[in-house]
Amino acid sequence: MTDTPEPSLSPTGLPHVDGYRHADVTGGWLRAATFGAMDGLVSNTALIAGVAATASAQTVVISGIAGLLAGAFSMALGEYTSVTTANEQIDSEVLAESRSFRKDPEAERAELVAMLTDMGMSPQTAAAATDEIHRDESRALNFHLVQELGVDPREKPSPWVAAGSSFVLFAIGAVIPLIPYLLGHESLWLGLAFGGIGLLLVGGAASRITRRPLVLGSLRQLALGGVAIGVTYLVGHLVGGVVA
Ligand SMILES: [Zn+2]
Repeated sequence: MTDTPEPSLSPTGLPHVDGYRHADVTGGWLRAATFGAMDGLVSNTALIAGVAATASAQTVVISGIAGLLAGAFSMALGEYTSVTTANEQIDSEVLAESRSFRKDPEAERAELVAMLTDMGMSPQTAAAATDEIHRDESRALNFHLVQELGVDPREKPSPWVAAGSSFVLFAIGAVIPLIPYLLGHESLWLGLAFGGIGLLLVGGAASRITRRPLVLGSLRQLALGGVAIGVTYLVGHLVGGVVA
């Protein structure tokens, strides 16, 4: 949805959150999955590279697992808070709208007629449609909220699902560069190779969302991730040389 309407006041003077779009709250699962895994992949591959610049394989594995858990918990907490806040915002809008329904039902009807006329209905059709919608107050309330918030209050996302999936996705991304170590191959280069393959896959998935060329998306992700990992390795190397 790109046609964001102008911010407006209802005839009752209550502000309406017109700029609130559905995607802000729920998003697409593929998008969330891709970016969650990308976060874990880039941050943990970089972490491992930075530590491996000077430390032993055992330290690398411990750092990698700690990085995985810390990152996954942090993502889950952030997601939980973000969804909870968005839901509370929806609740407060529902309350404001139902209050304005009680206070001035005629103004709410006029508001809906105006919205429908704005969408292209003739004033007569808009008035008839408004009559039908307002016959059932709870349905009318919901219709107003969908129009004014861009979100159906009956479809609020669960903060627990959001938190849990963020945790799992971050962990999936973060474990990829650790796989060789966990299998007993104590090689940074193998870990980096796994991280690189992960970046190509995640970049490819991201290009599916934006419908961009697959190869370009994969290589771009590899290049950007490579810079982050390279810089972390370099800093790890320099700091390791100083504190050693
Ligand atoms: Zn309204």
